[in-house]
Formats: sequence, C-alpha cells, structure tokens
Amino acid sequence: MYIDGQWVTERSHFLVTNPASGDVIGEVPDCTSEDIDAAITAASEALKSWKQTTAYERSGLLYRAWEIMLSRKQELAELMTREQGKPLKASLNEVQYGADFLLWFAEEAKRINGQTIPSSRDNQRFITQKVPVGVVGAITPWNYPISMITRKLAPALAVGCTLVLKPAEQTPLCAKAMAEVFEEAGFPAGVINVITSRDPAPVGEAFCSDPRIRKLAFTGSTAVGKKLNAQAAAHMKRVSMELGGHAPAIVFPDADPAHAAKGLSLVKFLNTGQACISPNRIFVHRVHAEAFLAELTARVCRLKAGSGFEAGNSIGPLINEAALQKVDSQVQDALAKGATLYTGGHRLTDGELRGGLFYAPTVLAGVTPEMRIYYEETFGPVAPVVIYGDEDDVLAMANDTEYGLAAYVYSNNLSTAVKAFEALEFGIIGINDINPTSAAAPFGGMKSSGLGREGAQEGIEEYLETKLGGFALG
Ligand code: NAD
Repeated sequence: MYIDGQWVTERSHFLVTNPASGDVIGEVPDCTSEDIDAAITAASEALKSWKQTTAYERSGLLYRAWEIMLSRKQELAELMTREQGKPLKASLNEVQYGADFLLWFAEEAKRINGQTIPSSRDNQRFITQKVPVGVVGAITPWNYPISMITRKLAPALAVGCTLVLKPAEQTPLCAKAMAEVFEEAGFPAGVINVITSRDPAPVGEAFCSDPRIRKLAFTGSTAVGKKLNAQAAAHMKRVSMELGGHAPAIVFPDADPAHAAKGLSLVKFLNTGQACISPNRIFVHRVHAEAFLAELTARVCRLKAGSGFEAGNSIGPLINEAALQKVDSQVQDALAKGATLYTGGHRLTDGELRGGLFYAPTVLAGVTPEMRIYYEETFGPVAPVVIYGDEDDVLAMANDTEYGLAAYVYSNNLSTAVKAFEALEFGIIGINDINPTSAAAPFGGMKSSGLGREGAQEGIEEYLETKLGGFALG
C-alpha cells in the first residue's frame, strides 16, 4: 500500500493469482481500519497545499506520469496479462488507453475557467470560480485494472483534488505499479494514496461516511454501486457511478450482415466479454439472420482461448469460478428454454487450459425475453442473437433493459442511423462503430448504468464545485 508517500507492507497479506493458470503471482497487504484512516488523513492534509498549486504545476506532473507510463508500457501490459488474463496485445492497448487520460487531463488542467455573468442590477457583478471538490475516494474494478484508475485519478489530480484509491482485490498489483508511476513522476506525499483490502466493504463504508471524503468515484457492478450510492447519500457526498450494462446491438435490414458480424465478433469477445459495454443482445433482422449467423459463427469458431502471452490467443480466462458458473448457468438456462447453440456452450479444460477459468466462445440464437441472458448482464464470451422482423419494434426491444450504458447500430442508411441514435436510451452509441471510446469522449451510462461521465470535459466537471461571487458596487 502507498500511504502519505510511504510504502506500507507490514500487514497480513492476501494472495493474487493468475486466472489463466491458478498460479499465485504475488501478495499484497490487507489494510486495517487504521490504514484507511491514515490514508484519508494523508489525503486531507495534502489537499491544503495541493489545491493551491497552479494548473501548470499539476499539468506538468500529469504529463510526466504519462511519459513514465508509456516508457513502461510493455512491463505494465505484461503484469496486466499475468494478473487479469487478457491477451498481451489487449493489455498493451489498455495501457495506451490508460495513459491517454493522463495526457488529456494534463491538457485540460489548464482550461478550467470560471465565468462573468451579467446582472440585471447595474451596480452588481457576478463571477464564478471552479474549485476542487476535495478528497476523493476511488474504487476501481478488475476488468480494466489500469485504465479505470487513470480515468478517475487524472481529472481529480488535474483540478487539485487529492485521493485514496482502493483497487479490486483481484488486481491490486496493477494498482501498485500505477502508484509507482505516480511516485516517480513526483506527486507530493499524500496526494495519491493506495490501499488494498481483501474485504472491500469496510473501505466503502469509510469512504461514504468519513466527512473528510467529499466525493466517491466508483466503477463496478450495479448492485454494489446502488449500495454505495445510498450510503453516500446519507452523508450528502458527490458520486460518480460507472456501473453495469446490457448493450443491445441492432443489425438493420439496410446493413451489411458480414460487416456487422465481423464488428460484433470483435467487440463481443473483447476482454472475453468482461466489459461493461459488451453487446448482450444482438438483434438481427430476419432478412440477414442466415448470413449473419454463418459469418459470426465462422469467426467465433476461429477464436482461440489460452494464455495471453501466446500470440494468436484472443480469449482469456474469466476472472473467477463464480463468474464462470454465472456464464454457464445463463447459457444452460437459455438452451433449456429453446435457444439454439451454434458454437461453444461449455467450459474449456483441455491441455494447458486445465488450470484456468476458460469458457468456450459461444453463439446462441433464438434468444427470447423468457431467458435470463435477455435481461441479466453476462460478463462472459457469449453472443446471444435475437431475430426480429419489425424495425419499429426493435428500438423498443433494445430499450427494454434496466441498463443504459452502450448500444450499437449497424445500418447503411443515414435516416435509419439517426433515428436509432435518437431513440436509444443509452449513454454511448456506436453507429457502425465498435469502439466509441476515447479519453476525449464522455463515457457513462443512464438508468441503472450509473451517474456522471468520465473522460472528456464532462469528466473534469465531476471533480469541481462552482463558487459564485456576487459583488455589490458602492
Ligand atoms: P464489483 O462491484 O463486485 O467490484 C468492483 C469494485 O467494487 C471492486 O474494487 C470491489 O472490491 C469493490 N466492492 C465490491 N463490494 C464492495 C462494497 N460492498 N463496498 C465497497 N466496494 C466494494 O464488480 P465486479 O463484478 O468485480 O466488476 C464488474 C462490474 O463492473 C460489471 O457489472 C461491469 O459492467 C462493471 N463495470 C463498469 C464499467 C463502467 O465504466 N460503467 C467499467 C468496468 C466495469
């Protein structure tokens, strides 16, 4: 752990394992309640001077962290593949995406402007000033163990907040490596604190109830997000919640089915389906059903599962046994209720996959609302296909979910695409685009997918308060 600029190791530890092999790859300290308090104290003391630094000083440090992160890109990516299991190429992409937030917010730090506002009284002047919200408690997940850290820390640091980070218990080594990057960049002691915990609940409770923490930034499941949001509300804290998703993907009659199948095979199986923006219901118009399913199945059959260190493997392990069981139970439920299995549908245990948590990339067709997978987030390598016939109905079907994070549309007709973009109740919509994400673009969801946005100019507002000055002139 990294508290007040010191590395803390003398605690009981918990083990970190490689989900591809089951091997233990490290151990990290299990924080005590005193550690949580010490980290919050350090952040709150450091805030006094950090918030007085100039935007140019903060920008310079973020810029330096960006340089260090890129110089360590290979090392960070290899660590991520060992700890989380994703293919090395995907880890390299994530380190780059994570670094992008440092650069973007290093630049944005200098563009935090207030306003002058005309008054109806000629002897009155209004000005506003943007000020940092204060100490931030950040909680991050394991599926994107580096970029979810920088997506929160970079804007918080840019505006002059200090923070305590608690990473997921499955991927604390990536967080430790990021703390080293920030330390080397020269951030003052106490500005960034990292605590690791086997049991996240007490840390969450402290973040929500300690009056010195002014904002909670959380990425994780909707169930935990709702719980934390309720706890934070009791103490009137600002929150950002990046939660679960259940993305629809619609292939319209005027789309190219082969192009759609290619794109959706890529985005669905990215990170082995363990992504909040992963398509969870693929609606294909019946005129394309046969061509789409043939192309999708052919592509999915070519995906190879295994160690992320072997070139050519694109399917990594699931994060733990419970995740694997959840995926399989959704698939078995769908099959029992009449879905058709095109490929996959079982755990993979042959050869080197024996020790890991691998599930065969799966295509299901004939998925209906009676099946659990139609409404429940899967977070695994399963592509559920729904065949539809009515273009007007499909938009309502796509919106029929408690989630509102991402949606995808395939169409070669401008009017169809615009109408779909306007009708879909989701925060991020890819139109013939499977990667609608960037440090410069706002990321976040509606409904049970969360509150607030990360990245972009919206992402920096989440860490700012607006102060109004009214001046009466004599
Ligand atoms: P999770 O909610 O179990 O865990 C996420 C984080 O919350 C971890 O750090 C965990 O330790 C912590 N946590 C768990 N219980 C807690 C508690 N009671 N108090 C405080 N902290 C607690 O989620 P998960 O299943 O590990 O992660 C996957 C989920 O995250 C999926 O639902 C996915 O969609 C979502 N996610 C969302 C985004 C987004 O940007 N919207 C990005 C990545 C993941």
